[in-house]
Amino acid sequence: MRKAETAQTARTARPRILVSACLCGQAVRYDGRSCLIPALRRLVQEGIAVPFCPECAGGLPVPRPPAECRGNRVFHADGRECTAAFEEGARRALALFREEGLAAAVLKENSPSCGTHWVYDGSFSGRKQAGMGVAARLLKQEGIPLFNEREWPAALARIGIGIAPDGQP
Ligand code: SF4
Repeated sequence: MRKAETAQTARTARPRILVSACLCGQAVRYDGRSCLIPALRRLVQEGIAVPFCPECAGGLPVPRPPAECRGNRVFHADGRECTAAFEEGARRALALFREEGLAAAVLKENSPSCGTHWVYDGSFSGRKQAGMGVAARLLKQEGIPLFNEREWPAALARIGIGIAPDGQP
């Protein structure tokens, strides 16, 4: 069997999900920290989840100034627009999703990239509003099932993985 076929077989053998890298323990947030959910890190270790950070993939450094959405555009707190980097990260997230044949995504709520239901309102005052981050919006437009970090059991159910009585996958 050729190498490409082997990779394809591996991809199709077991459904996998994309997960925001910061939820898996990677220190890629704007403030240089993570927001680890141990169960999601375990999914990475078991080969069920693929971690990805759209903002880093879009070329933004760690740490970086905080950013918030205003409509479909994104701005740093100092007023500089950073929409292009966020859109590049979103495109790369979609490309990875397609290349890896992933089945769903678990994304960090409230993020200007990854927020699935809520984002900060652009005033840098801590207020949130209903909305989606740039990467989440692109994935959603492509019909990809999205879940936030509290909904990860539903993402696993979607790919046929149950939760043990101890709450672990
Ligand atoms: S862009 Fe997404 S993965 Fe990266 S730090 Fe922000 S919430 Fe986490």
